[in-house]
Amino acid sequence: MDFQLSQSQQELQDAARRFAKEQMLDVACDVEETGVALSRDWLKRYAEMGFLGINVGQEYGGLGLGNLEALIVLEEFAKISSAVAFPIFESSVGPVRAIEYFANDTLKQRVIPKVCAGEMIIAVAMSEPQAGTALTDLKTRAEIRGDKIIINGNKRWCSGGGHSDGYVVYCKLSDAPGAKGIGAVLVEKDMPGVSFGAQESLMGFRGIPSADIFFDNVEVPLDNLIVPAGGFPKLMEAFDLERCGNATMALGQAAGALEDVLDYVQERQQFSKELVEFQAVQIKLAEMAIRVEGARLLIHRAAVNAEKGLPSIFESSTAKCFANEMAREVTSDAVQLMGGYGYSKEYPMERRMRDAWGWGIAGGTIDIQKINIAAAMIGRRFDQRK
Ligand SMILES: Cc1cc2nc3c(=O)[nH]c(=O)nc-3n(C[C@H](O)[C@H](O)[C@H](O)COP(=O)(O)OP(=O)(O)OC[C@H]3O[C@@H](n4cnc5c(N)ncnc54)[C@H](O)[C@@H]3O)c2cc1C
Repeated sequence: MDFQLSQSQQELQDAARRFAKEQMLDVACDVEETGVALSRDWLKRYAEMGFLGINVGQEYGGLGLGNLEALIVLEEFAKISSAVAFPIFESSVGPVRAIEYFANDTLKQRVIPKVCAGEMIIAVAMSEPQAGTALTDLKTRAEIRGDKIIINGNKRWCSGGGHSDGYVVYCKLSDAPGAKGIGAVLVEKDMPGVSFGAQESLMGFRGIPSADIFFDNVEVPLDNLIVPAGGFPKLMEAFDLERCGNATMALGQAAGALEDVLDYVQERQQFSKELVEFQAVQIKLAEMAIRVEGARLLIHRAAVNAEKGLPSIFESSTAKCFANEMAREVTSDAVQLMGGYGYSKEYPMERRMRDAWGWGIAGGTIDIQKINIAAAMIGRRFDQRK
């Protein structure tokens, strides 16, 4: 067991940290103020730097590195903001990885190199108005007719909705009940019959567009089938990697808050001394650091044990759960330690606190992760319907 990053991993981390701190701080403020997602020009810059598809195979335009490398880079960008980190999340742990793992070669070649080049964004459309945690209740239908698939239904809460070029749509591909009938199809934004609802106004996640998606007799080529009916367990395996990305986004909020607040308490004076001189402040800082370090270790364990493959449900859910809960606590402590300045929109603390809440709902709520963890411990799934 080795808890040190290798020299090349440290160099990658330094490069990401430098780029994120030097280039993205002002951009993050703009994105937060306007609510408009990072521009395509920035995606191109990310691609040139090799930040998109870090753990994607070189044959598809990625760097061919491991999950750990991707998550190290993701954390550095997430410390700046969720929105500037989101393209890295999408390209290295997002739904495009389900395409890489499970789709046919034609689809892989058509989509993945474009994602790694910053020319295409792929989002995931799972949730529906009546199917959130109970995802297998989803109603969107996809019917295979000859060499076409016809899709009808609607999706909710899609991050990237209306902005992304393609959507990995979870749908019923057969009449088999529950998970057995579910598969996934790639639907492209400009296909006839695809439309979007108004942009959602969320508590946080500004600059990560979110909207309903409607499918009205949308016809897609059969090549766009990612997994057929019965492929739901495969989709969930790919989701184990996305969970590590979600956990890293939460970690980034907390780690960024801790870095900033450390500077703040050494500068700000009250009662003629720096805040850091008060023992209550020291204890708070230590508690924050313990939680941040703990989350990072759980995330890195899940990533390293998976090597270049997909993490286990136990390790990815443990990491996500812990990181989601600790990020809410640590960012909230950071707001408190900065007093009125923490509560002001002039500083990024209150944004981090709002975003931290979102990561604990997106990708499966904290409580449902705990049910996954218990199921993995006991060795069987618990039927939530009985
Ligand atoms: C910021 C954000 C981004 C998102 N991005 C996407 C996206 O890109 N694509 C996408 O498809 N979806 C996305 N979602 C949707 C997200 O996956 C769902 O919101 C989430 O799965 C919860 O579903 P729900 O909102 O319908 O809540 P519900 O399922 O109604 O749950 C409400 C509450 O009940 C609890 N609960 C429900 N069932 C159980 C149970 N069996 N045991 C214990 N507690 C239970 C939940 O934990 C939760 O606290 C996003 C959501 C957010 C907030």
